[in-house]
Amino acid sequence: MLVPPPACGFAMHTPHHTPKGDPVNGATTVVGIIGHPVSHSHSPQMHNAAFHALGLNWVYVPFPLTPDRLADGVRGLAAAGVRGFNVTIPHKEKILPLLDEISPQARAIGAVNTVVIDNGKLVGHNTDGVGFSHALHQAHRFKPERSRVLVLGAGGSARAVCDQLAREGVPAMYICARRSEQAADLSADLRSHHPGCDIKTLDWSPLDHRCGINWAELIVNTTPIGMRPGDGSPLDTNGISPGHIVVDLIYAPPETELLQKCRALRARCLNGLGMLLHQGAAAFTLWTGKEAPLDVMQAALPNHNGPA
Ligand code: NAP
Repeated sequence: MLVPPPACGFAMHTPHHTPKGDPVNGATTVVGIIGHPVSHSHSPQMHNAAFHALGLNWVYVPFPLTPDRLADGVRGLAAAGVRGFNVTIPHKEKILPLLDEISPQARAIGAVNTVVIDNGKLVGHNTDGVGFSHALHQAHRFKPERSRVLVLGAGGSARAVCDQLAREGVPAMYICARRSEQAADLSADLRSHHPGCDIKTLDWSPLDHRCGINWAELIVNTTPIGMRPGDGSPLDTNGISPGHIVVDLIYAPPETELLQKCRALRARCLNGLGMLLHQGAAAFTLWTGKEAPLDVMQAALPNHNGPA
């Protein structure tokens, strides 16, 4: 809430302030993020900018929580009257048994990234899939019912992305992971929720990658390959063409080697910043019941003007 500064500059007790300079007082509603680590997260600046813009007396704070303290931490946040929190690595799956209710989509994905606390009741949601979808539709003309998809990696974010694409009517997907049993588990789970989607696995080999590139219209990297300097690209990009859409969920750096190479081959490319923005916007609405100020949230993210 915007409160004018006191007429007299002298104060015995300096109030605490949110990062945007709004005072935190006895009526402030608290939300945040649990994870280990959380110091890298861009969510605090994104949500605090949104609260400030809408004049809401809310604050978003990081809660570093080690895996051995997860249950205590979650109970403590509920007991302290926190309105909700985001969940990041490594708690997205482990938190499920600690919740009172889980949305059907989070249940199908098997992971929760947003918790809403209503009168002490903890309700888990997953906004990663819709965040991915909004970003993709906003950036490129994407026709799910006409697109075959190659997904690299089979971890938490792959689960959210694949579930969302299957919900939107993608007819067929290849899941390609370095551990074939992880890809097989994900494809079996997906088939049980989306019997209409033809879901198969590929080996993590140059030959299978090439086969996937030639077959797919949309390629999504959900592995962390490309985050660190010298990582290289998860794929040999031979065969990438202007007909492909290539999405990398990584947003730092804003353009991974995969995206650089695919852009040079004139494929339509997208980094993970839009997904970060839209999953956050969906969480914002779940907590506040208000439409998220997307422009403000986007401006609070790093590299929002960088190549995407
Ligand atoms: P995760 O659950 O650990 O899954 C990562 C997947 O990548 C696993 O299948 C993993 O296989 C595979 N992988 C890791 N290193 C690999 C390597 N060197 N070669 C081949 N495969 C490898 O992680 P996540 O939560 O899905 O996150 C994955 C990436 O997405 C991260 O970069 C994260 O920052 C990004 N992300 C972005 C957003 C966004 O909003 N833009 C949201 C969520 C995640 P193993 O299990 O064998 O290691």
